Amino acid sequence: MQILQTVEELRAWSRAQRCAGGQVGLVPTMGALHAGHASLIRAAAQACPGRVAVSIFVNPTQFGPNEDFARYPRTFAADCALAEQEGATVIFAPSVEEMYPAAAATFVDVEGVNERLDGKSRPGHFRGVATVVAKLLIAAEPDLAFFGQKDAAQVAVLRRMIADLRLATTVVVCPIVREADGLALSSRNSYLSSEDRKQALVLSRAVRHVEELVASGQRQADTLIAAARAVFAKEPQVRVDYVELVNWDNLLPVSTAKPGSLFAVAAWVGTTRLIDNTILQ
Ligand code: AMP
Repeated sequence: MQILQTVEELRAWSRAQRCAGGQVGLVPTMGALHAGHASLIRAAAQACPGRVAVSIFVNPTQFGPNEDFARYPRTFAADCALAEQEGATVIFAPSVEEMYPAAAATFVDVEGVNERLDGKSRPGHFRGVATVVAKLLIAAEPDLAFFGQKDAAQVAVLRRMIADLRLATTVVVCPIVREADGLALSSRNSYLSSEDRKQALVLSRAVRHVEELVASGQRQADTLIAAARAVFAKEPQVRVDYVELVNWDNLLPVSTAKPGSLFAVAAWVGTTRLIDNTILQ
């Protein structure tokens, strides 16, 4: 498995794959890879065998000034081993200067969508995400790009961006990978103390409760949101950021759950902000 560090190398590799007649898959990540990332890489390797690029880049522009950019886990050697084992062909691991040249002044703002859900509590976050993913897609020109449903609002922002910029990449969304007890895997779970870890289960409990209510016929957003908040209330140390039922395309609230509606939660557990969600059936 090759490790590429420049946009020029990534572009040359990708073009060579396409000239040879194959589809290219891209899996964008910030590293600290876990089984959630592994599932994306496996899906990419299945769709694009021998032509999968995994990017590992802790993108500074998607972190707020008081967020965890400096202490975000960086486990590059282990990441390379996992990526190779799951079928990655190349790793793209650029420097910050490679992705953001000194005079860089171009950003991608997906207006409206970028201010909803996580974008509301993390101003500028989705601007950073859209900008870096646009750069990756323009460099790699992948046929398929793989993202996790775990970051469902991010998927909405990126789908809008790809459609608006007329990029030739198809988004593939992979299901949320969870621990046996329900906790959605996240690189940030490594910040949790053992007490936090127990409290963090309230997010998946709230999501599962809403799935059960929908399965039993409940459709009213107010009722579903109140029920999820009641689950959170039993874990008073956890501070809810949002509990929302939205249209997954534009992230605007809906009053009635429909198949494909996104039910999403975010909460602070200790000093760690976690998210979870479900796409309703
Ligand atoms: P990150 O490294 O956190 O930026 O995540 C890179 C990609 O992995 C994103 O598309 C995430 O949605 C996806 N991802 C993260 N956690 C999970 C998970 N538990 N299950 C599935 N995909 C995930």
